[in-house]
Amino acid sequence: MSELRVLIAEDDPELRRVLRRGLAEEGFAPETVGTGAELLARIDSESPDLLVVDIGLPDADGRDLCQALRARGIQVPVLFLTARDALPDRLSGFDAGGDDYVTKPFAFAEVVARLQALARRAGADGVIEAAGLRLDPITHAVSCGSSSTPLTPTEFRLLARLLARPSEAVRRRDLIRAGWPYGAIVHENTLDAYVARLRRKLGALDGAPPITTVHGVGYALR
Ligand code: CA
Repeated sequence: MSELRVLIAEDDPELRRVLRRGLAEEGFAPETVGTGAELLARIDSESPDLLVVDIGLPDADGRDLCQALRARGIQVPVLFLTARDALPDRLSGFDAGGDDYVTKPFAFAEVVARLQALARRAGADGVIEAAGLRLDPITHAVSCGSSSTPLTPTEFRLLARLLARPSEAVRRRDLIRAGWPYGAIVHENTLDAYVARLRRKLGALDGAPPITTVHGVGYALR
């Protein structure tokens, strides 16, 4: 794999230095900025393969920045850094693109592992690959081996969320946040109806993992 370009947005200079040096030692090509404004200003010229974004930047919430990037059509995977006492479940809505997060203080190896997983999953073209499935964001199709089926955008976002951490149970509210835009009114049985449709579509693919109901929690791809 050629050097992956990582753009890091973190306002703590010490943490920024540690991340930059550590990622360079791990074979990444890191660049750093200290504010959200700098991130937005440099994203096009840096054209990173991966982003590391602190949630608590002085001038912006990292999640809002991510949303702004997505609105500009920038699909670079984001690894969020967040304080342990921040609400991690608010992050889940950003998992639709396969994004991830680590809580501070983190083990550096964890950051590297998450970045490598994001890079593998999202590839240069934004294709998400996990659990034997391949999700193509351009065609909105899911494929498994040689079989393939088209998805609606909502089905695509739900499946991407399930694939973000394969085999882990995903809470119903996290799926609803991932599947529908912020503020949308989604009835409980709407999610179930969409999952039922996804199940039928996956069931028609050779060797695709099933979507399992995890009682009292939500759903898992396993
Ligand atoms: Ca901060």
